[in-house]
Amino acid sequence: MDINKVNTKILPVSFDYYAPSSIEELLSILKREEEVVFLAGGTDLLVKMKQRIVEPKVVVSLNRISELSFIEEKEDGLHIGAVTKLRAIEKSDVVREKFPVLYWGVRAIGSVQIRNMGTIGGNLCNASPAADSAPPLMVLNAELKTIGVEGERRIPINEFFVGPGKTVLKSKELLAEIKVPYLPPNSGTSFIKIARTSMDIAKINVAVMVRLENGRIGECRIALGAVAPTPMRARKAEEFLTGKEVTDENLRRAGEIVSKEIRPITDIRSTAEYRREVSKVLTYDALRIAIREASKE
Ligand SMILES: Cc1cc2nc3c(=O)[nH]c(=O)nc-3n(C[C@H](O)[C@H](O)[C@H](O)COP(=O)(O)OP(=O)(O)OC[C@H]3O[C@@H](n4cnc5c(N)ncnc54)[C@H](O)[C@@H]3O)c2cc1C
Repeated sequence: MDINKVNTKILPVSFDYYAPSSIEELLSILKREEEVVFLAGGTDLLVKMKQRIVEPKVVVSLNRISELSFIEEKEDGLHIGAVTKLRAIEKSDVVREKFPVLYWGVRAIGSVQIRNMGTIGGNLCNASPAADSAPPLMVLNAELKTIGVEGERRIPINEFFVGPGKTVLKSKELLAEIKVPYLPPNSGTSFIKIARTSMDIAKINVAVMVRLENGRIGECRIALGAVAPTPMRARKAEEFLTGKEVTDENLRRAGEIVSKEIRPITDIRSTAEYRREVSKVLTYDALRIAIREASKE
């Protein structure tokens, strides 16, 4: 049916609605209901519901579950509840000081209004190839904790996305927490996004982590968004750079490899050709910034 394909103010479908206030209560709802759709900030979901792209029978809000909203420093890294608002992450001193790549990724999402509503879990579970928090968390090697009726799972973020709008999450399984390991010494990170306007989804984004070792690149992680069906790691370029000297030639070569590794499409935001071309420069610039940051220590 070709109605309501524009973003009206109306939610045209009726559905049952739950707003549990604890994980225990949530799990009992999940055991009872056959199929549910989770609601966090609603900045992606409500748009899709208004356009009838998603027509849920049961909506379960996660917003009253305080156990899912926190930023906590622990020995093994930073733990972030999936329902933590993007704005809380952006305002966190720990994130800004110790995980600047995540700060810059989150800071690039929409506007203050969007970040006040939107959550980190929603950004990941929506599984847009252009999600701005994904490349930063991928170069940080974040680990995702899920919960569901069958128990808990821990999934490396680099194995989480399987296609546009698709993750490895099973039915009635939710993302509960993101663990971000601390960066090793002598490392630096960077994030760059190109978009049509500051409010828009990325035409292309890139995050980099570099660890220097005796003046060479000891370790390198490069992740890009909006250039493939999922956010992706540029493994070939990473491999090429590992152990290499920091020279302009090597960094430019890495950019060339990235542009061959990505699988961009032409869509309303950009052309595949543009994405391929600009990925070279963007990778080079992101590497340069990360190396500069790593050299500061
Ligand atoms: C004007 C505008 C500008 C935007 N700009 C950007 C941008 O620049 N960059 C960008 O990356 N995004 C952008 N977005 C998209 C959106 O704001 C983000 O993806 C946001 O982080 C989504 O979070 P949410 O909490 O609102 O998710 P919701 O809309 O509540 O949920 C999104 C999806 O994830 C599922 N979900 C949510 N939480 C969980 C969970 N814990 N476990 C399992 N499933 C879950 C929901 O069922 C739904 O399918 C923009 C959106 C708008 C409307």
